[in-house]
Amino acid sequence: MEISSLSSKKVSFHTLGCRLNFSESGAIAQGFVDRGYEVVEFGTSADVVFLNTCTVTDGADSACRNLIRKAQVSSPEAKIVVAGCYAQMEAEKLKTMQGVDLILGTSEKYKVFDYLDSEKEHEVHIDKSSEFWGAATTLADSRTRAFLKIQDGCNYVCSFCIIPFARGRSRTITVADALVEAKALAAKGFKEIVLTGVNIGEYESISGERLTDLVKRIADIPEVMRLRLGSVEPNTVTRELLETLKATGKYQDHFHIPLQSGSDQILTSMRRKYTTAHYKDLLAEVQSFFPEAAFGADVIVGYPGETEEQFLETFNLLRTQPLTHFHVFPYSKRKGTTAAKLENQIQSSVKKDRVRTLVMLGDAKLADFAANRVGQTTEVLFENEVDGFWEGYSSNFLRVRVRSGELLKNEIRRIRIEGHHQAMRSTWLSGSLA
Ligand code: SF4
Repeated sequence: MEISSLSSKKVSFHTLGCRLNFSESGAIAQGFVDRGYEVVEFGTSADVVFLNTCTVTDGADSACRNLIRKAQVSSPEAKIVVAGCYAQMEAEKLKTMQGVDLILGTSEKYKVFDYLDSEKEHEVHIDKSSEFWGAATTLADSRTRAFLKIQDGCNYVCSFCIIPFARGRSRTITVADALVEAKALAAKGFKEIVLTGVNIGEYESISGERLTDLVKRIADIPEVMRLRLGSVEPNTVTRELLETLKATGKYQDHFHIPLQSGSDQILTSMRRKYTTAHYKDLLAEVQSFFPEAAFGADVIVGYPGETEEQFLETFNLLRTQPLTHFHVFPYSKRKGTTAAKLENQIQSSVKKDRVRTLVMLGDAKLADFAANRVGQTTEVLFENEVDGFWEGYSSNFLRVRVRSGELLKNEIRRIRIEGHHQAMRSTWLSGSLA
């Protein structure tokens, strides 16, 4: 597969899965830009197509296979690189798929430039390493909010989870390197940084610094205006962390704390490190520090053996607790996980119903939460202009739209909230500059 001359080389990216994957795609995209490539829209003709994959559910796996087929149609001459978690776990399956040139695992994906000139098809590199590969949003990503990867892998053994198999054991960036990255992001004009990883609550640098230390140091960078954390495991959200976040004066009113199930029996089977009582107490404690906080939660329905009663326990916990942003997943059997060997696997039609029920509950709760903001003022970081409206996110992660003749891109402005709106599955607020 001949790659055309230096000046016109094109690469397209498609990223599936978590924020971590997006920050990693950003870093790899920058590597291509530094080598003279132009990053083009996925689906347009390119010399290289880079698919950064996910494998947390069957849905993610089949989405990846569909993307490969799409890439073959849009760029029949391209070098197709399938990288990341699905490549790591299903390299043998990918070797049977036509048109796949490079299969790069979760560690090897950063070394794509070493393999690009190889003429072999279905070339596989899936060695795992304990090395920490840094990644942060770049300008090539055209985002306003920057993701900064601080941790990778996981040492927990949740019964349903494939991530420790795909990404290996936990490893972290040093505080010094994180500061360099954060300052570089701020220098590029990013005002908001999201610290991301797989299990960031377990952040511990080689010199023993914990997440609280890292947060303090990054918040001390004057140009960093807003700070967020990606998903944090419930057992790692300590009082000390909450005090530290509050003391920065920059931490935004939003927490993503995976719940997974509202049934203690299922949490035990999942090998989660908390009970529903602990989870509820934690939400109350977080609210005592951040009364305006919005809460996101991952939930799995249809875990093996999940009875209607246990599902109702999850439903009622989500209904009664101050949770606003639901991420609902149907349980997906993952090869090699302990839950995959369990009896009583739930029918997919039952899973579908349970997902639908919780998604509807989630939409209603988010709409309620948004409605209660009307009349308040809030700070919004504006990201882009859509149909004459400037759009951005409030501190508590609500989308806000404002009509203004000013150039508000990447501006943080106080907004008086005047209305809330819901269409299809999306909820947003409208308002005016305060
Ligand atoms: S904490 Fe559990 S669910 Fe999360 S990545 Fe680790 S093993 Fe998976």
